[in-house]
Amino acid sequence: MQDLLDVKGRIFDIQRFSTHDGPGVRTIVFLKGCPLRCRWCCNPESQSYEIQQMRQGGVMKTIGRDVTVGDVLKEVLQDRPYYRRSGGGMTLSGGESLWQPDFTEALLKACHENGVNTAIETTGFADRAIIERCLPHLDTVLMDIKHTDSRKHEEFTTRPNEAILQNARLIAEKAKKLIIRVPVIPGFNDTTAEIDAIAAFAASLPNVNEIHLLPYHRMGRDKYDGLDRPYLMGDVQPPTADHMNGLKLVAERHGLITRIGG
Ligand code: SF4
Repeated sequence: MQDLLDVKGRIFDIQRFSTHDGPGVRTIVFLKGCPLRCRWCCNPESQSYEIQQMRQGGVMKTIGRDVTVGDVLKEVLQDRPYYRRSGGGMTLSGGESLWQPDFTEALLKACHENGVNTAIETTGFADRAIIERCLPHLDTVLMDIKHTDSRKHEEFTTRPNEAILQNARLIAEKAKKLIIRVPVIPGFNDTTAEIDAIAAFAASLPNVNEIHLLPYHRMGRDKYDGLDRPYLMGDVQPPTADHMNGLKLVAERHGLITRIGG
């Protein structure tokens, strides 16, 4: 156990008492570094693995710190009574945690050894071998499918989607539970036809019966100013509630339990 606790990783935040990122009350651990560059990303400070400076409310803040599994576990275990009562636990988010595989695997294992339920929010863009190492220590996988067309996927995220779609099948076959998530982005994938295509793909995966449609929001907008980066979404506005309800009906036609929001 001591070896596990000594494994190092790089995170930029830990948020307690979340109820949106997996079952029950959860502690979310945000890891640094992501192989994608989604235009709509609301956590642009997660993308680079490097420790950075970001202006927030006129003050420069350091984003990112090196920690051990033991450091994070200590914080996660503080809320064990809430996890027990609500069926919650720890969720790894980012960034893309699968790009820090040793830390991710060790932290997941350490949680399980302490009776803490585990979940991950992932792009699925990682080596199969890494996914196979982590899956035994995961209770829930929340995986994004952003677009079924690889060219369009690459245009908006900088990466093609073939490996992601293949990994979705691998995860569906081996995970205890896989929920598909779709960030609904105007001008990218918010059409009836595209949500229909994503839902058809999700429904074709073994053991998958749930999909979450996450409407685009502009809450990360100010962070781009803080990092001196352009906000590539311009003035694009979030989809309306009516539009989201229409897309929900489209996904439900594939027999999927469909939720708007995480
Ligand atoms: S996958 Fe997530 S963290 Fe990575 S760039 Fe896209 S939205 Fe941001």
